[in-house]
Amino acid sequence: MNLGPRSRRRILRALSLIFLTSLLAAQIQQAPQQPSSANADSVSSELVHQLEAIKSTALSDDYAYRQLAHLTENIGPRPAGSAAANAAVEYVAAQMRELGLDVHLDKCKVRHWVRGTETAELVDYAGHATEMQQKIVLTALGGSTSTGADGITADIVVVDDFDQLKTLGRDRVTGKIVLFNQKFDKQKANAGLGFAAYRETVGYRERGPQAAAQLGAVAVLVRSIGSDDYRLPHTGDSDPAGIPTGAVTPEDADLIAHLAAEAPVRMHLTLTPQKLPDETSYNVIGDLKGSEHPEQIVIVSGHLDSWDLGTGAIDDAAGVVMAMETAQLLQRLRLHPKRTLRVIAWMDEETDGAGSIQYRKEHKSDFTNHIAAIESDVGAAHPLGFFTKMSKAAAEALTPVQTVLSSIGASVMQEASHPPGITDIAPLSEEGVPVLGLMQDTRDYYAYHHSAADTLDKVVPSELRENAAAMAVMAYALADMENPLPR
Ligand SMILES: [Zn+2]
Repeated sequence: MNLGPRSRRRILRALSLIFLTSLLAAQIQQAPQQPSSANADSVSSELVHQLEAIKSTALSDDYAYRQLAHLTENIGPRPAGSAAANAAVEYVAAQMRELGLDVHLDKCKVRHWVRGTETAELVDYAGHATEMQQKIVLTALGGSTSTGADGITADIVVVDDFDQLKTLGRDRVTGKIVLFNQKFDKQKANAGLGFAAYRETVGYRERGPQAAAQLGAVAVLVRSIGSDDYRLPHTGDSDPAGIPTGAVTPEDADLIAHLAAEAPVRMHLTLTPQKLPDETSYNVIGDLKGSEHPEQIVIVSGHLDSWDLGTGAIDDAAGVVMAMETAQLLQRLRLHPKRTLRVIAWMDEETDGAGSIQYRKEHKSDFTNHIAAIESDVGAAHPLGFFTKMSKAAAEALTPVQTVLSSIGASVMQEASHPPGITDIAPLSEEGVPVLGLMQDTRDYYAYHHSAADTLDKVVPSELRENAAAMAVMAYALADMENPLPR
């Protein structure tokens, strides 16, 4: 049998997933076969029965996928401040009302930045033939200022890191375009540690523009943070630096670095994004009131805003629809948990986190009644379990839930000081609320993240169902356990 590269890749991935899962199992608190008696007390056998019903219903339900298709294909890209983001707010609020939730909108002010023209050419470099220009594939970073319609022309200086920039100093940076050429570690991503690779490089996107602007740079480019090899630029936000900022593809960063090693490289760069007046937007909040302790709250959530290049399927309509599916499943199965299940579609995660900041402001006095919060914001691929930030006692109380989730492979509970994908619920964590972030197989996530390829087809329906099952099972357990999760 002659396997194409895609099939070979799939088989290799399946094998390495088995390896990865067993590796994680060896390192991480594993779901026990038999819960200890103390843990068994936290989750009654009746509750386990209900959790099994939620899981099996979720695994054959297409509600989440239908909602995902609507958000990504009918509504489309949803950058904060855009008409589409507000259409998504209205749509999700209407859908939550249809589910019978008590819906309200948390108002917040968001920045409104829109992309313009984005082109770049190398106009002089070693071996340059007259009239020849090398096209560079790039995209503006969120918050970039404009070069003006005519663009700017300047020499490029290439640095790998902040230390090299500092060594160059003001004399060799002033008037130049700085390219930060820090490579994304694909091997980490392939081993399931994409978030670690992301954290190692994202600082250049976020703080690189300011650091270079302080030394007189006229524009900043960063090597895209992505694991793909298809010459795709990946956008993202950066701290305002008052100069044009963009992300070039890894291939173009290599090209520039190679040419710059031979002789000065001159670029003509045109980026014309605009900062429009701030807009009003909203978190969408839907409550399924608790039957015994309505004042106690368990949050399930994802963020509704997205970048504008793709349609924000894996980042993060997927998280929103998993949370909506959690409420839908409980309503469909007529399960009324003791505590309130609160579904939140957060606004503005990608830029300033205005929605999350607003929630803290408005609800902080009530955080003692927030029992736990769940967010999914690392895609929709096969779930492995949860990253957690909670006490040992809390984690132990959840071991019977791990047992229920082990049949779908989502039984890992990994305590983390910076759990991936919990940006919007981080303020709750800072105030002592136990938090959980869905842990997905992220080996493909950073190939599409913040790029034009973040589209519906990247979500495998059966894997989305597994994620919804994991979120719904965990949320219902938290909302219906005899005693609230200990802090
Ligand atoms: Zn996200």
